[in-house]
Amino acid sequence: MQLGMFIDLAQGYSEANEILAGRVPMAADTVTLAKPGHKAIRIAADGSAFIEGFRCDACGAAFPEATMACRACASRAVPHPFRAAETGKLFTWSVVSRSYPGIAVPFVSAIVDLDDGLSLKGTLRDVAPDQVKAGMPVRLVMDNAGGATDKDGAPYVGFHFTPMGDA
Ligand SMILES: [Zn+2]
Repeated sequence: MQLGMFIDLAQGYSEANEILAGRVPMAADTVTLAKPGHKAIRIAADGSAFIEGFRCDACGAAFPEATMACRACASRAVPHPFRAAETGKLFTWSVVSRSYPGIAVPFVSAIVDLDDGLSLKGTLRDVAPDQVKAGMPVRLVMDNAGGATDKDGAPYVGFHFTPMGDA
């Protein structure tokens, strides 16, 4: 499996998890590709990373992970994957002042409502904690997960949020 392939519900998750856990060797030509550092991150064939959500056809609710049925309306139709929006609004946040060694504090742990209905938790950067406001428009930014690599030196892809415009 190439990480650039679209991961489908039937087999992708278990396969990807096996690879991430190191139980399945990656193909030689994929070793240098960045690896998803979050369960909702997918890497497209062109190497670009994006967030994948799952939407219920019956009620339109969106979820950050695959489910067998809709959590909102209990429809048994399996929610289908979609590429999530890269803009949204800050729903709520917490300023984290204490963390593990090597993690700079304070940082803003945010929950963002993306414009397509998917809610996602991530770090909000580039804004002082006392300047954060509910509802402020933010953009999803894919990053290098703080420079983290696996034991073979392969980089990870992560994401954070950053304020948009003058908000
Ligand atoms: Zn539903």
